[in-house]
Amino acid sequence: MDDMFRRVLVTGGAGFLGSHLCERLLEANCDVICADNFYTGTKTNITHLIGNPRFEVLRHDVTFPLYVEVDEIYNLACPASPIHYQFDPVQTTKTSVHGAINMLGLAKRLKAKILQASTSEVYGDPIVHPQTEDYNGNVNPIGIRACYDEGKRCAETLFFDYHRQHNLNIRVARIFNTYGPRMHPNDGRVVSNFIVQALKGAPITVYGDGSQTRSFCYVDDLVAGLIDLMAAPDDVTGPINLGNPTQLTIRELAEKIIAKIGSKSEILCQPLPEDDPLQRQPDISLAKTALGWEPSVPLDIGLNKTIVFFEKLLA
Ligand code: NAD
Ligand code: UDP
Ligand code: UDP
Repeated sequence: MDDMFRRVLVTGGAGFLGSHLCERLLEANCDVICADNFYTGTKTNITHLIGNPRFEVLRHDVTFPLYVEVDEIYNLACPASPIHYQFDPVQTTKTSVHGAINMLGLAKRLKAKILQASTSEVYGDPIVHPQTEDYNGNVNPIGIRACYDEGKRCAETLFFDYHRQHNLNIRVARIFNTYGPRMHPNDGRVVSNFIVQALKGAPITVYGDGSQTRSFCYVDDLVAGLIDLMAAPDDVTGPINLGNPTQLTIRELAEKIIAKIGSKSEILCQPLPEDDPLQRQPDISLAKTALGWEPSVPLDIGLNKTIVFFEKLLA
């Protein structure tokens, strides 16, 4: 169908990734419905889109059924930072599982394409490194991260069962740590925490000894990957890793941010949270071959843009 007339639902559209996705879809002349219960997302994230006649906002919780008419669904609704998803863990699992069932039911009735925002957390504390899509992961099913990890794993199961059982046109993206403007300043994620702490001259809270690794993807690259996945041929269901393979330790990240900001902040080591993965890095060979996608924004450039965002926010 022509871009001019594509009607797209984005659940979690008022969140960090969702608001950037809504923006890109509107730029591509789609009609966009953003459904969000504003649990971690904010109206501020989408204020600049309100007034665009192609944009519509629904206050809606995806654990309840939703009846709208669209051609494509991006299912992003779910708190994503550990402090937010652990605040009400039962609700987190309900959002992932009941939310997936409702959005899959909607996609089934409409014969719409549906994309799931899954996560590198399905790999848990990975033994295989870097992580490839055929690795089944190492998740503690009863730990404090399980509400999120197992909720997302079950959502993937539902996506593939609706695909096999009802012939649904599905896409599953396994998103690795993504950062950029509009991250919530208090959501506890490492990039936002370190930048806010460094800007305030407060101690930089490194959990554990900071030797654990992550690989950070700039939001614009990630959103482009989601759109490419939705547009890919129907046999490209995924799961497919989307992330930036440039890996660094959390201590290196802290030092980089301190240096960029020229901050007087010191590093303060705090206990490592339970089940915190020791290493994480995406193997993106599949995304490169199946989508022709790879990230293009280097960490230094992305961090500069994110620092500018937080400077303005704190001013
Ligand atoms: P976010 O917290 O900013 O956005 C999540 C959005 O979902 C928020 O607007 C929130 O209000 C909304 N929401 C939560 N529960 C809801 C419910 N029951 N009904 C309707 N809306 C609800 O987080 P984000 O970083 O933008 O993450 C978006 C999606 O991408 C999530 O599904 C997350 O699991 C996934 N993801 C993100 C990352 C990352 O690094 N940012 C990594 C892996 C996966
Ligand atoms: N659903 C929805 N919108 C729709 C169609 C279905 O929210 O347009 C929900 C509905 O609540 C249902 C769920 O999706 O419980 C799963 O739908 P499905 O058709 O797979 O299952 P069933 O209705 O048979 O339980
Ligand atoms: N982290 C940290 N200090 C902080 C916040 C996070 O050292 O103030 C660490 C955290 O323990 C983890 C990594 O940074 O090892 C990434 O944490 P985040 O919550 O951003 O994402 P996730 O653990 O889900 O990858």
